[in-house]
Amino acid sequence: MDKEGSTSVNPERQASVVSRGTALLGVAADERNHVAVSTGAIEDGQVRYPEGREDDDRRRTPIAEEAERAARAIHQEGRFPRPSRRRVFSVANQKGGVGKTTSTVNIAAALALHGLRTLVVDLDPQGNASTALGVEHHTGTPSVYELLLGEITVSDAVTVSPQSPNLLCIPATIDLAGSEIELVTMVARESRLREALSTAALDELDVDYVFIDCPPSLGLLTVNALVAAPEALIPIQCEYYSLEGLGQLLSNINLVRAHLNPTLTVSTILLTMYDARTKLADQVTAEVRQHFGEQVLRTVIPRSVKVSEAPGYGQTVLAYEPGSRGAMSYLDAAREIAIRGAQRDGAQRDGENVR
Ligand code: ADP
Ligand code: MG
Repeated sequence: MDKEGSTSVNPERQASVVSRGTALLGVAADERNHVAVSTGAIEDGQVRYPEGREDDDRRRTPIAEEAERAARAIHQEGRFPRPSRRRVFSVANQKGGVGKTTSTVNIAAALALHGLRTLVVDLDPQGNASTALGVEHHTGTPSVYELLLGEITVSDAVTVSPQSPNLLCIPATIDLAGSEIELVTMVARESRLREALSTAALDELDVDYVFIDCPPSLGLLTVNALVAAPEALIPIQCEYYSLEGLGQLLSNINLVRAHLNPTLTVSTILLTMYDARTKLADQVTAEVRQHFGEQVLRTVIPRSVKVSEAPGYGQTVLAYEPGSRGAMSYLDAAREIAIRGAQRDGAQRDGENVR
Protein backbone atom coordinates (compact mmCIF):
# COMPACT_ATOMS: atom_id res chain seq x y z
CA MET A 1 0.00 0.00 0.00
CA ASP A 2 1.49 3.36 -0.96
CA LYS A 3 1.16 6.76 0.67
CA GLU A 4 -1.93 7.63 -1.39
CA GLY A 5 -3.64 4.60 0.07
CA SER A 6 -4.00 2.62 -3.15
CA THR A 7 -3.81 -1.14 -2.77
CA SER A 8 -1.60 -3.50 -4.66
CA VAL A 9 -2.56 -7.04 -3.83
CA ASN A 10 0.14 -9.61 -4.04
CA PRO A 11 -0.76 -13.28 -4.24
CA GLU A 12 0.11 -13.89 -0.65
CA ARG A 13 -2.47 -13.40 1.98
CA GLN A 14 -1.93 -10.07 3.64
CA ALA A 15 -3.52 -7.58 5.94
CA SER A 16 -2.36 -4.08 6.48
CA VAL A 17 -3.44 -0.81 7.96
CA VAL A 18 -3.13 2.70 6.71
CA SER A 19 -4.15 5.82 8.49
CA ARG A 20 -4.96 8.89 6.37
CA GLY A 21 -6.19 11.87 8.26
CA THR A 22 -9.19 10.64 10.11
CA ALA A 23 -9.93 7.76 7.73
CA LEU A 24 -8.65 4.39 8.76
CA LEU A 25 -8.45 1.41 6.48
CA GLY A 26 -7.75 -2.18 7.27
CA VAL A 27 -7.12 -4.28 4.19
CA ALA A 28 -6.95 -8.02 3.90
CA ALA A 29 -6.48 -10.15 0.83
CA ASP A 30 -6.50 -13.90 0.43
CA GLU A 31 -4.61 -16.14 -1.94
CA ARG A 32 -7.33 -15.76 -4.62
CA ASN A 33 -7.05 -11.97 -4.46
CA HIS A 34 -10.38 -11.52 -2.72
CA VAL A 35 -9.96 -8.22 -0.97
CA ALA A 36 -11.82 -6.78 1.99
CA VAL A 37 -11.47 -3.24 3.20
CA SER A 38 -12.51 -2.04 6.61
CA THR A 39 -13.01 1.68 7.10
CA GLY A 40 -13.64 3.81 10.10
CA ALA A 41 -12.68 7.14 11.58
CA ILE A 42 -10.22 7.84 14.35
CA GLU A 43 -11.50 10.26 16.95
CA ASP A 44 -9.47 10.95 20.05
CA GLY A 45 -7.42 7.85 19.39
CA GLN A 46 -10.55 5.66 19.24
CA VAL A 47 -11.82 3.93 16.14
CA ARG A 48 -15.43 4.78 15.32
CA TYR A 49 -17.17 2.49 12.87
CA PRO A 50 -20.26 3.51 10.92
CA GLU A 51 -23.64 2.81 12.58
CA GLY A 52 -25.11 -0.66 12.07
CA ARG A 53 -21.75 -2.07 11.08
CA GLU A 54 -21.84 -5.00 13.50
CA ASP A 55 -25.11 -6.29 11.96
CA ASP A 56 -23.96 -6.15 8.38
CA ASP A 57 -23.83 -9.80 7.30
CA ARG A 58 -21.89 -9.02 4.15
CA ARG A 59 -18.90 -8.18 6.30
CA ARG A 60 -18.90 -11.46 8.19
CA THR A 61 -16.42 -13.24 5.92
CA PRO A 62 -13.05 -14.36 7.29
CA ILE A 63 -11.10 -11.80 5.25
CA ALA A 64 -13.51 -9.03 6.19
CA GLU A 65 -12.97 -9.93 9.82
CA GLU A 66 -9.23 -9.97 9.30
CA ALA A 67 -9.40 -6.53 7.65
CA GLU A 68 -11.34 -5.24 10.61
CA ARG A 69 -8.88 -6.73 13.08
CA ALA A 70 -6.06 -5.10 11.12
CA ALA A 71 -7.84 -1.77 11.43
CA ARG A 72 -8.44 -2.20 15.12
CA ALA A 73 -4.94 -3.49 15.83
CA ILE A 74 -3.19 -0.18 15.73
CA HIS A 75 -5.88 2.32 16.62
CA GLN A 76 -8.20 0.24 18.75
CA GLU A 77 -8.03 2.13 21.96
CA GLY A 78 -5.50 4.87 21.65
CA ARG A 79 -3.03 4.86 24.47
CA PHE A 80 -2.17 2.43 27.20
CA PRO A 81 -1.86 3.81 30.73
CA ARG A 82 1.59 5.03 31.60
CA PRO A 83 3.19 3.63 34.76
CA SER A 84 3.98 6.24 37.37
CA ARG A 85 7.47 4.76 37.62
CA ARG A 86 9.53 3.24 34.85
CA ARG A 87 9.26 -0.56 34.67
CA VAL A 88 12.31 -2.66 33.82
CA PHE A 89 11.91 -6.35 32.97
CA SER A 90 14.35 -9.13 32.28
CA VAL A 91 12.78 -11.66 29.90
CA ALA A 92 14.38 -14.85 31.10
CA ASN A 93 14.20 -18.60 30.68
CA GLN A 94 17.30 -20.69 30.15
CA LYS A 95 15.44 -22.88 27.69
CA GLY A 96 15.92 -21.84 24.10
CA GLY A 97 12.98 -21.45 21.75
CA VAL A 98 10.31 -20.72 24.37
CA GLY A 99 9.41 -17.29 22.98
CA LYS A 100 11.65 -14.92 24.96
CA THR A 101 12.70 -12.85 21.96
CA THR A 102 9.33 -13.04 20.23
CA SER A 103 7.56 -11.91 23.40
CA THR A 104 10.11 -9.16 24.08
CA VAL A 105 9.86 -7.52 20.67
CA ASN A 106 6.12 -7.89 20.21
CA ILE A 107 5.15 -6.69 23.67
CA ALA A 108 7.59 -3.80 23.32
CA ALA A 109 6.17 -2.92 19.89
CA ALA A 110 2.59 -3.05 21.20
CA LEU A 111 3.43 -0.72 24.10
CA ALA A 112 5.26 1.64 21.74
CA LEU A 113 2.35 1.70 19.29
CA HIS A 114 0.10 2.70 22.17
CA GLY A 115 2.13 5.70 23.20
CA LEU A 116 4.58 4.25 25.74
CA ARG A 117 8.27 4.80 25.08
CA THR A 118 9.92 1.41 25.25
CA LEU A 119 13.53 0.24 25.15
CA VAL A 120 14.56 -3.28 24.18
CA VAL A 121 18.03 -4.32 25.36
CA ASP A 122 19.19 -7.25 23.25
CA LEU A 123 21.36 -9.35 25.54
CA ASP A 124 21.58 -12.43 23.33
CA PRO A 125 24.66 -12.71 21.06
CA GLN A 126 22.39 -14.11 18.36
CA GLY A 127 20.87 -10.63 18.05
CA ASN A 128 17.40 -11.94 17.19
CA ALA A 129 15.62 -9.09 18.95
CA SER A 130 17.70 -6.56 17.00
CA THR A 131 16.75 -8.36 13.77
CA ALA A 132 13.04 -8.36 14.57
CA LEU A 133 13.16 -4.65 15.37
CA GLY A 134 14.89 -3.92 12.05
CA VAL A 135 18.00 -2.55 13.79
CA GLU A 136 21.60 -2.84 12.50
CA HIS A 137 23.71 -5.28 14.48
CA HIS A 138 26.72 -6.24 12.40
CA THR A 139 30.14 -6.35 14.08
CA GLY A 140 31.32 -2.83 14.74
CA THR A 141 27.85 -1.45 15.51
CA PRO A 142 27.87 0.22 18.95
CA SER A 143 26.09 -2.42 21.02
CA VAL A 144 25.34 -3.84 24.43
CA TYR A 145 28.79 -5.49 24.40
CA GLU A 146 30.70 -2.19 24.51
CA LEU A 147 28.12 -0.95 27.02
CA LEU A 148 28.91 -3.86 29.36
CA LEU A 149 32.63 -3.19 28.99
CA GLY A 150 32.00 0.43 29.96
CA GLU A 151 33.43 1.71 26.68
CA ILE A 152 30.28 3.55 25.58
CA THR A 153 27.16 4.99 27.18
CA VAL A 154 23.50 4.08 26.71
CA SER A 155 22.95 7.06 24.42
CA ASP A 156 25.87 5.92 22.22
CA ALA A 157 24.40 2.43 21.92
CA VAL A 158 20.70 3.15 21.47
CA THR A 159 18.95 3.26 18.10
CA VAL A 160 15.34 3.88 17.13
CA SER A 161 13.50 1.01 15.47
CA PRO A 162 12.02 1.92 12.09
CA GLN A 163 8.75 0.45 13.39
CA SER A 164 7.97 3.26 15.81
CA PRO A 165 9.66 6.42 17.09
CA ASN A 166 8.68 5.18 20.57
CA LEU A 167 10.55 1.91 20.13
CA LEU A 168 14.24 2.02 21.02
CA CYS A 169 16.80 -0.77 20.90
CA ILE A 170 20.29 -1.40 22.21
CA PRO A 171 21.42 -4.06 19.73
CA ALA A 172 23.56 -7.13 20.30
CA THR A 173 26.35 -8.11 17.94
CA ILE A 174 28.15 -11.42 17.74
CA ASP A 175 30.92 -9.82 19.83
CA LEU A 176 28.71 -10.48 22.85
CA ALA A 177 29.33 -14.22 22.43
CA GLY A 178 32.71 -13.98 24.17
CA SER A 179 31.48 -11.78 26.97
CA GLU A 180 30.29 -14.57 29.30
CA ILE A 181 33.98 -15.49 29.65
CA GLU A 182 35.35 -11.94 29.54
CA LEU A 183 32.98 -10.86 32.31
CA VAL A 184 34.30 -13.50 34.72
CA THR A 185 37.43 -11.56 35.55
CA MET A 186 35.82 -8.12 35.58
CA VAL A 187 35.10 -5.97 38.59
CA ALA A 188 31.41 -6.06 39.61
CA ARG A 189 30.80 -8.61 36.89
CA GLU A 190 27.17 -9.26 37.86
CA SER A 191 26.09 -5.64 37.98
CA ARG A 192 27.67 -4.09 34.92
CA LEU A 193 24.37 -3.83 33.06
CA ARG A 194 22.69 -2.22 36.09
CA GLU A 195 25.51 0.34 36.24
CA ALA A 196 25.11 1.09 32.54
CA LEU A 197 21.29 1.30 32.62
CA SER A 198 21.42 3.91 35.36
CA THR A 199 18.37 5.96 36.27
CA ALA A 200 20.01 9.03 34.73
CA ALA A 201 20.73 7.20 31.46
CA LEU A 202 17.15 5.90 31.19
CA ASP A 203 15.74 9.30 32.21
CA GLU A 204 17.61 10.79 29.31
CA LEU A 205 15.87 8.37 26.93
CA ASP A 206 12.57 9.15 28.67
CA VAL A 207 11.45 5.52 28.49
CA ASP A 208 8.47 4.06 30.36
CA TYR A 209 9.33 0.38 29.78
CA VAL A 210 12.60 -1.52 29.38
CA PHE A 211 12.76 -5.19 28.34
CA ILE A 212 16.05 -7.08 28.48
CA ASP A 213 16.01 -10.11 26.17
CA CYS A 214 18.17 -12.80 27.79
CA PRO A 215 20.16 -15.54 26.10
CA PRO A 216 19.13 -19.19 26.64
CA SER A 217 21.44 -19.84 29.59
CA LEU A 218 21.77 -18.99 33.25
CA GLY A 219 25.25 -17.54 32.78
CA LEU A 220 26.58 -14.11 33.63
CA LEU A 221 24.60 -12.31 30.93
CA THR A 222 21.30 -13.53 32.36
CA VAL A 223 22.52 -12.74 35.88
CA ASN A 224 23.34 -9.20 34.69
CA ALA A 225 19.77 -8.87 33.38
CA LEU A 226 18.25 -10.17 36.64
CA VAL A 227 20.36 -7.72 38.62
CA ALA A 228 19.47 -4.79 36.36
CA ALA A 229 15.69 -5.32 36.42
CA PRO A 230 13.28 -5.34 39.37
CA GLU A 231 10.82 -7.49 37.41
CA ALA A 232 11.31 -10.81 35.63
CA LEU A 233 9.01 -11.89 32.82
CA ILE A 234 9.17 -15.63 32.18
CA PRO A 235 7.73 -16.96 28.93
CA ILE A 236 6.65 -20.58 29.23
CA GLN A 237 5.94 -22.65 26.16
CA CYS A 238 2.75 -24.73 26.38
CA GLU A 239 4.64 -27.99 25.82
CA TYR A 240 5.48 -31.08 27.80
CA TYR A 241 9.08 -30.35 28.74
CA SER A 242 8.57 -26.67 29.34
CA LEU A 243 8.20 -26.97 33.11
CA GLU A 244 11.49 -28.81 33.35
CA GLY A 245 14.24 -26.44 34.32
CA LEU A 246 11.80 -23.91 35.70
CA GLY A 247 12.80 -24.88 39.25
CA GLN A 248 16.43 -24.13 38.43
CA LEU A 249 15.49 -20.74 36.97
CA LEU A 250 13.44 -19.87 40.06
CA SER A 251 16.21 -20.89 42.45
CA ASN A 252 18.68 -18.74 40.50
CA ILE A 253 16.24 -15.86 40.76
CA ASN A 254 16.06 -16.48 44.53
CA LEU A 255 19.86 -16.42 44.73
CA VAL A 256 20.04 -13.15 42.81
CA ARG A 257 17.35 -11.67 45.08
CA ALA A 258 19.20 -12.78 48.21
CA HIS A 259 22.62 -11.50 47.19
CA LEU A 260 22.42 -8.97 44.41
CA ASN A 261 18.96 -7.51 43.80
CA PRO A 262 16.58 -7.53 46.80
CA THR A 263 13.76 -5.94 44.77
CA LEU A 264 13.63 -8.72 42.17
CA THR A 265 10.23 -10.38 41.66
CA VAL A 266 8.81 -12.72 39.04
CA SER A 267 5.99 -10.33 38.25
CA THR A 268 4.83 -11.78 34.96
CA ILE A 269 4.52 -15.21 33.38
CA LEU A 270 3.38 -15.53 29.78
CA LEU A 271 2.19 -18.77 28.21
CA THR A 272 3.38 -18.97 24.62
CA MET A 273 2.91 -21.12 21.51
CA TYR A 274 -0.43 -22.48 22.69
CA ASP A 275 -1.85 -25.05 20.31
CA ALA A 276 -5.58 -25.53 20.89
CA ARG A 277 -5.49 -28.89 19.11
CA THR A 278 -3.47 -30.54 21.85
CA LYS A 279 -4.77 -31.59 25.25
CA LEU A 280 -1.26 -31.13 26.55
CA ALA A 281 -1.37 -27.38 26.00
CA ASP A 282 -4.38 -27.15 28.31
CA GLN A 283 -2.69 -29.32 30.92
CA VAL A 284 0.44 -27.15 30.92
CA THR A 285 -1.68 -23.99 31.07
CA ALA A 286 -3.69 -25.32 34.04
CA GLU A 287 -0.58 -26.46 35.87
CA VAL A 288 1.21 -23.14 35.43
CA ARG A 289 -1.86 -21.17 36.53
CA GLN A 290 -2.32 -23.38 39.58
CA HIS A 291 1.28 -22.96 40.61
CA PHE A 292 1.83 -19.28 39.81
CA GLY A 293 -1.70 -17.84 40.10
CA GLU A 294 -1.90 -14.09 39.57
CA GLN A 295 1.57 -13.83 38.09
CA VAL A 296 0.32 -15.53 34.91
CA LEU A 297 -1.17 -13.22 32.30
CA ARG A 298 -4.72 -14.11 31.26
CA THR A 299 -3.70 -13.73 27.64
CA VAL A 300 -2.16 -16.83 26.12
CA ILE A 301 -0.13 -16.50 22.90
CA PRO A 302 -1.27 -19.01 20.25
CA ARG A 303 1.10 -20.82 17.94
CA SER A 304 0.87 -18.86 14.71
CA VAL A 305 2.79 -19.01 11.45
CA LYS A 306 2.62 -15.22 11.09
CA VAL A 307 4.47 -14.78 14.39
CA SER A 308 7.32 -16.98 13.18
CA GLU A 309 7.46 -15.38 9.71
CA ALA A 310 7.69 -11.77 10.90
CA PRO A 311 11.40 -11.71 11.96
CA GLY A 312 12.37 -12.88 8.47
CA TYR A 313 11.15 -9.48 7.26
CA GLY A 314 12.93 -7.59 10.04
CA GLN A 315 9.57 -6.90 11.65
CA THR A 316 7.46 -7.65 14.67
CA VAL A 317 4.20 -9.43 13.94
CA LEU A 318 2.40 -6.18 14.76
CA ALA A 319 4.06 -4.53 11.78
CA TYR A 320 4.08 -7.59 9.55
CA GLU A 321 0.49 -8.77 9.99
CA PRO A 322 -1.39 -6.49 12.37
CA GLY A 323 -4.72 -8.28 11.93
CA SER A 324 -3.39 -11.76 12.71
CA ARG A 325 -4.29 -13.69 15.84
CA GLY A 326 -0.65 -13.60 16.92
CA ALA A 327 -0.52 -9.80 16.69
CA MET A 328 -3.82 -9.42 18.52
CA SER A 329 -2.74 -11.66 21.37
CA TYR A 330 0.57 -9.83 21.84
CA LEU A 331 -1.44 -6.62 21.87
CA ASP A 332 -3.68 -8.12 24.58
CA ALA A 333 -0.66 -9.27 26.60
CA ALA A 334 0.90 -5.80 26.39
CA ARG A 335 -2.37 -4.17 27.43
CA GLU A 336 -2.58 -6.47 30.45
CA ILE A 337 0.99 -5.60 31.43
CA ALA A 338 0.28 -1.88 31.06
CA ILE A 339 -2.96 -2.04 33.04
CA ARG A 340 -1.35 -4.11 35.80
CA GLY A 341 1.48 -1.59 35.92
CA ALA A 342 -0.90 1.31 36.30
CA GLN A 343 -2.99 -0.51 38.93
CA ARG A 344 0.07 -1.53 40.88
CA ASP A 345 1.26 2.03 41.04
CA GLY A 346 -2.03 3.11 42.55
CA ALA A 347 -5.50 3.30 41.04
CA GLN A 348 -5.74 6.02 38.47
CA ARG A 349 -8.81 7.61 37.09
CA ASP A 350 -9.54 7.10 33.39
CA GLY A 351 -7.39 9.28 31.23
CA GLU A 352 -5.15 10.41 34.03
CA ASN A 353 -1.44 9.97 33.67
CA VAL A 354 -1.65 8.68 30.12
CA ARG A 355 0.40 9.79 27.19
P1 ADP B 1 13.73 -17.76 22.52
O1 ADP B 1 14.07 -16.31 22.42
O2 ADP B 1 13.17 -18.15 23.86
O3 ADP B 1 14.87 -18.65 22.12
P2 ADP B 1 12.10 -17.26 20.21
O4 ADP B 1 11.23 -16.13 20.58
O5 ADP B 1 13.28 -16.98 19.35
O6 ADP B 1 12.55 -18.06 21.49
O7 ADP B 1 11.17 -18.35 19.51
C1 ADP B 1 11.71 -19.58 19.02
C2 ADP B 1 11.13 -19.89 17.65
O8 ADP B 1 9.74 -20.08 17.74
C3 ADP B 1 11.35 -18.75 16.65
O9 ADP B 1 11.59 -19.31 15.39
C4 ADP B 1 10.03 -18.02 16.67
O10 ADP B 1 9.77 -17.38 15.44
C5 ADP B 1 9.05 -19.15 16.93
N1 ADP B 1 7.86 -18.68 17.67
C6 ADP B 1 7.83 -17.96 18.80
N2 ADP B 1 6.57 -17.73 19.20
C7 ADP B 1 5.77 -18.32 18.28
C8 ADP B 1 4.34 -18.45 18.11
N3 ADP B 1 3.49 -17.91 18.98
N4 ADP B 1 3.90 -19.14 17.05
C9 ADP B 1 4.75 -19.70 16.17
N5 ADP B 1 6.09 -19.62 16.25
C10 ADP B 1 6.59 -18.95 17.29
MG1 MG C 1 15.94 -15.42 21.97
